[in-house]
Amino acid sequence: MHKIIVQKYGGTSVADTNKIKNVAKKIISYKKKGYSLVVVVSALGNTTDELIELAHDITKSPSERELDMLVSTGEQVSVALLAMAIHKLGYEAISFTGAQVGIITDKSHTQARILNINTKRIEQELKKGKVVIVAGFQGVTSHQDITTLGRGGSNLTAVALAKALKAQVCEMFTDVDGVYTADPRIVPNAKKILNMSYEEMFELASLGAQILQARSVEMAQKFNVPIHVRSSFSNKQGTIISKEERAMEDIVVSGVTVNKDEAKITICDVSDRPGIAAKIFKYIADKGINIDMIIQNISRTKATDISFTVLGKDLAKTMTVVKAISKKIGSKDVTYNKDIAKVSVVGIGMKSHSGIAARMFKALAKKKINIEMISTSEIKISCVIDKKSADSAVRAIHDEFRLGK
Ligand code: ASP
Ligand code: MG
Repeated sequence: MHKIIVQKYGGTSVADTNKIKNVAKKIISYKKKGYSLVVVVSALGNTTDELIELAHDITKSPSERELDMLVSTGEQVSVALLAMAIHKLGYEAISFTGAQVGIITDKSHTQARILNINTKRIEQELKKGKVVIVAGFQGVTSHQDITTLGRGGSNLTAVALAKALKAQVCEMFTDVDGVYTADPRIVPNAKKILNMSYEEMFELASLGAQILQARSVEMAQKFNVPIHVRSSFSNKQGTIISKEERAMEDIVVSGVTVNKDEAKITICDVSDRPGIAAKIFKYIADKGINIDMIIQNISRTKATDISFTVLGKDLAKTMTVVKAISKKIGSKDVTYNKDIAKVSVVGIGMKSHSGIAARMFKALAKKKINIEMISTSEIKISCVIDKKSADSAVRAIHDEFRLGK
């Protein structure tokens, strides 16, 4: 069999029929080079958001099974249109839903995990010389219920197919031509990163970089699937994400990111004894709310403040929950702040270099930016600061680590 490549085209790459025709041409150019192609597509433009809105017009809490039934239709539209666009150019192509190509998942609707892929049908069609087009973001349970794989889940479909078909590479086509040292809209001299490790990309994705779904990077790392993030509007080489190499470690910091989408909640005067934090965070977790950073001050009296961050969209829900629990545990007050931003530096080189945090703090200090919270991992340092200073913080840190040079 020919060399297999899996390509994924995101929503912006197939936003309208002209863009779909453009994608079809790109696919044919690969076909002419002799590759067997499996193509995963997302829904057109903002279709998924629009479908979710429709559901919410009907009810605030739609059944998750029905929600999956609804949003999975977005990708069914784009695969069919893309197949037609390829036919029009005189080539053979066939489109499939996730269920049709045996993408079997568990039953966790809206966040399903892929359990197994039966590649038989895909391989048959590839042998006939057809371009195989698969609807991203969706699967099916062993009971024939349609599921989806979480927002941005077409990335996961692509990586899972690349693994199952032993593809040479998984190319992710998007509207930017790679991963940059910072958002070029904030930092004009940001540079494209040509090679990065899975770990770094996972951190960046988790920190809110919209480029790839974090879960898909995790899966790529687990099965060592090389990813190439590149633009669907040019032929330029993008960013290759692969296993960490020695040379990567020489670069101390790879990128700076910012997330302006979080809010901070503080529970004041919480009594400082075993079991209290467990109680608070169990209560929040039970409501399905994800916590990001947490800090607890040492107490000089018998009480302390606990602060933590959540996604902005979860703020109202979290406040309701926290107010209820704070009464039970005898806290005096709960406050929140929406005007925060989280700036982070990421780099595999941090494992072997010291002093990175100090340099980051120095860069913020020079701009008189106050740090409200700090969290670190082996390859990441994040600071919560005032939202107003977010962009200038990113530029200062980018300069400090000479990432534009
Ligand atoms: N269309 C889905 C979403 O918007 C899946 C994807 O784009 O990857 O989340
Ligand atoms: Mg999308």
